[in-house]
Amino acid sequence: MKSQSFDDIKKLLLKRRAALLKADRGFDREIRNEIESRHGDDVDVAESAYEQEMAYMFKNRGQEEVRLIDEALLRIEKGEYGICAECGEKISKKRLQVRPYSILCVDCQQELEKEEAERFVEPK
Ligand SMILES: [Zn+2]
Repeated sequence: MKSQSFDDIKKLLLKRRAALLKADRGFDREIRNEIESRHGDDVDVAESAYEQEMAYMFKNRGQEEVRLIDEALLRIEKGEYGICAECGEKISKKRLQVRPYSILCVDCQQELEKEEAERFVEPK
């Protein structure tokens, strides 16, 4: 089997990872600032709480993306990158360019999202 080189994507992932980690430090600073500046009237406090919450949200989203990137990088190392983790089919190059840390092919991803959506509406 011919092994494909993913140097370009690896470079892209590492760059994105560095940017995310930098942003993460920025969010930490923002959250700290919001906490420290919290001594105005109620409106200020509410606004500050909201901004802090937003910073947390972006922070979490960024951390999740870093996790996905790490997983993708690991798969590149192991030679499993570009292969669907679910069905073993090749993931299209086009999809990898749009979402370089995809570990599922389009079909499996859609299946997963459908399952998640169903689980979400299902009563306990
Ligand atoms: Zn698949």
